[in-house]
Amino acid sequence: MRVDPFQREIDEDLVRVLYAQDPIAFFSHWFSIAVLVAIYWPDIPSPRLFVACFGFYAAANCGGLALWICHRRYPRLVSPRGWIYLHAVRGMLLYSAPGFAVWFAFQSPHPDLPLLHTVMLVTLAAGVFMSNGFDLLNFSTAIPFLLFPSIVLHFGTHTFDRTILAIVLAFFVCAINVYALSYRKLFQRVVQARVDQQYLAESLAAQKRVAEEASLAKTRFFAAASHDLRQPLHAIGLLAASLNDPLNDPLHDPAATPVQHAKTAEHIVYNVEALNQLFNQVLDLARLESGVTQVIRLHFRLSELFERIGSQYRPQAAAKGLALRIAPTGVIVHDDPVLLERVLSNLVSNAVRYTEEGAIWVGFRRAGRSSGGFIEVRDSGIGIPLDEHQRIFEEFYQVANPQRDARQGHGLGLPTVRRLVTMLGGELQLRSAPGRGSVFRFPVQGGDAGGIVASLNEGVAGGPSAQGRRVLCIDDEPSILEGLASLLARWGCVVRGARDEADALAALGDGFVPDAVLCDYQLANHRTGAQALSAVRAMLARAGHEGVVTLLITGDMASAELAALALQGIPVLHKPVTPARLRRTLDMLWQQADLDKGRAVAARGLSVGDGGFDSADGSPSGDHRPPRMSF
Ligand code: ADP
Repeated sequence: MRVDPFQREIDEDLVRVLYAQDPIAFFSHWFSIAVLVAIYWPDIPSPRLFVACFGFYAAANCGGLALWICHRRYPRLVSPRGWIYLHAVRGMLLYSAPGFAVWFAFQSPHPDLPLLHTVMLVTLAAGVFMSNGFDLLNFSTAIPFLLFPSIVLHFGTHTFDRTILAIVLAFFVCAINVYALSYRKLFQRVVQARVDQQYLAESLAAQKRVAEEASLAKTRFFAAASHDLRQPLHAIGLLAASLNDPLNDPLHDPAATPVQHAKTAEHIVYNVEALNQLFNQVLDLARLESGVTQVIRLHFRLSELFERIGSQYRPQAAAKGLALRIAPTGVIVHDDPVLLERVLSNLVSNAVRYTEEGAIWVGFRRAGRSSGGFIEVRDSGIGIPLDEHQRIFEEFYQVANPQRDARQGHGLGLPTVRRLVTMLGGELQLRSAPGRGSVFRFPVQGGDAGGIVASLNEGVAGGPSAQGRRVLCIDDEPSILEGLASLLARWGCVVRGARDEADALAALGDGFVPDAVLCDYQLANHRTGAQALSAVRAMLARAGHEGVVTLLITGDMASAELAALALQGIPVLHKPVTPARLRRTLDMLWQQADLDKGRAVAARGLSVGDGGFDSADGSPSGDHRPPRMSF
């Protein structure tokens, strides 16, 4: 039987208190035995019975003392509750002897003996109240055996004095029960306070441990990060200096050929790329930590995501003589394709990196699920020892790269993967042993073919969905506005730039109805992009455009306002924004908005294109409601 933890705490405290009283009870019992024997000695009505009765009383008492001598502090014989039961049985035996022995007094010719015995019993009852009153079981099993025979016998005499005495005794029993009740409540409150205090102390200690571990992890993180950042910087510095060195000038040193210069430049490019990769990984992780990354679930064919991964990693695998096998699947999932792709990219690139021969297998398994299932990435590589299965998910931890060679990665892939999978509502599972390869798997939600808005693989490099879309860009930095405008124009968008909120509102006033508004987060005059976007949205809403695709672009990582925007589902892109990422994000937002618009129209039975400003090109303006977005 499982005992509630608080009840166990009460029981343990009860045992401690009851146990501490036992030696005192021992001496008071022997004293009462001595007194009773002395007063009965001259005239014992039934000597054998008397000896048996008090022999039993003495034996029960000595048994308690023997236990106490063996285990001074705590009776470790049985569970606390079990010991409380045993103690109650012992009390019952111990107190029944003097309780029933009052019968001898009533048999005796001395009229005072019943009174004397009763006084002795009342004294013992007071002792029971003091030592056992805080436990209902021990108290209620001792008192009736001690006092009820006496009450009954006094009543049985049918004399006025004895009847009054019996009534007083009965009243006494009731009174000590009432007092014992409040005694018990007090005891429970004391135990509760102690347990609360202990819990508080334990949780404080646990929090301290967590804080210490976090601080240690942070120190490790910074030590590894600064090492990994310094290393390529140092190399770039040396290589750049060598390019500048007059000794390397072909005029001074004919050995320093243009071929050597090209090699040095190649090394510089390699180190810059390594630095860039590391920055991106650290920024990705920081984004996940700051809680601004959003999850947007779309219905899509998993095979399309697999295809993208296949075309990305097949050349790398082939270069190592490995086969990258992607199991065909017709399953449709409802998940965030952008985040899933990052998870899969990390896992597959690790599989390629840590496999020297054999194959890498990417596939989907139902694993007994009726909807959704698991994506698995398997390899026949070096495997991971069991005692490293936890540590490989720590930032910058690598199993076998003590010299921290950047070519072997930085140890940031798996921590990022684990966080992403957790964000997607799943758990990353690992099965691996040295020499036996590794299997990483994580769950995906089942999707619905009717919910697919577009293929994942269309439109990434300028598909039809951007053609003719109107985009309003708000940024106080003219060079960024210019860059954005030329990029969007290349995709076929009609772009309007605005330096601030007022400019943006003026553009709307001129009749420019955007399909998307891209806005920098930090604007001039202490205005934020969030404020500008809400002003733009409000103006669009007044003209009947309830929702428009909006996108904040920021370099800020941990602002509370950004986290709040992320929670509200306002899409946020983090700098540096690559053209592919921007394009993909816009495509997804537009696809989702078009789908929402279609659903809304179907629901209302209305035709698209009602309401709006006097649109410059007369094209319909839709009800674009931006979904939660993840990047
Ligand atoms: P990185 O691969 O950049 O070192 P990760 O965080 O992705 O960093 O992985 C951490 C460590 O886990 C790696 O250094 C490697 O030792 C181990 N590891 C990850 N994936 C595999 C795999 N598929 N097979 C063997 N070891 C792996």
